[in-house]
Amino acid sequence: MRIPESLAERVIADSKDFALEGFVYGSGPEKPAMMLVGEAPGETEIHNGVPFSGRAGKELMAFLEGLGLSREEVYITSAVRSRPYRWGKRNNRDGTVTERKYNRPPTQKEITAHAPILDYELSHVEAPVIVTLGNIGLRRLAGTDYKVGDCHGRFIRTPVRRLQEGAFVWSDRDYLLFPTFHPAAIFYNRSLQEKIAADQEKLRQFLKTGVPS
Ligand code: URA
Repeated sequence: MRIPESLAERVIADSKDFALEGFVYGSGPEKPAMMLVGEAPGETEIHNGVPFSGRAGKELMAFLEGLGLSREEVYITSAVRSRPYRWGKRNNRDGTVTERKYNRPPTQKEITAHAPILDYELSHVEAPVIVTLGNIGLRRLAGTDYKVGDCHGRFIRTPVRRLQEGAFVWSDRDYLLFPTFHPAAIFYNRSLQEKIAADQEKLRQFLKTGVPS
């Protein structure tokens, strides 16, 4: 499933005042084994156009492999489809300083500007479960009261937020969400590995039985 180019163009035009660069389309079949909702692409992704193809992507592919799934069997997207960046300085070994772009989390305004894309994907992709990766994807869908640290590894049947005339409203229907941590989270906190493995096992059972537990 690919979103219409006109939709991508409209969102890119509406985002022109933000520090965002590139655009990465979500990818995967219309009827995937599951849908994955991340945060925003990083530097690697905006250069090759493939979601989750950088360092975090390697972790995610290992997570999928543990579930017996390949990238081609799932639909991969995120709350924001361009790379949020900030300028920063890097001190080089030779004493010189280089200005470069660093990744940063997307702002609420950026998430809102990109919301029509995820809304479109939600209404055109038929996934039995939506796995949110980290807080950004989780809160974009289930609302800002949720925290991944509190609700990871639990199936949540809930309406999701979609944008209507500039404001988020709740969808008429329920979706089955399964929050887990963003795969990049273990770079900063190795102890999450056990929790992610337990979440993965729960998801594996669901894929096997079709029953959320
Ligand atoms: N993180 C995301 O949320 N998406 C990507 O494509 C890469 C890293």
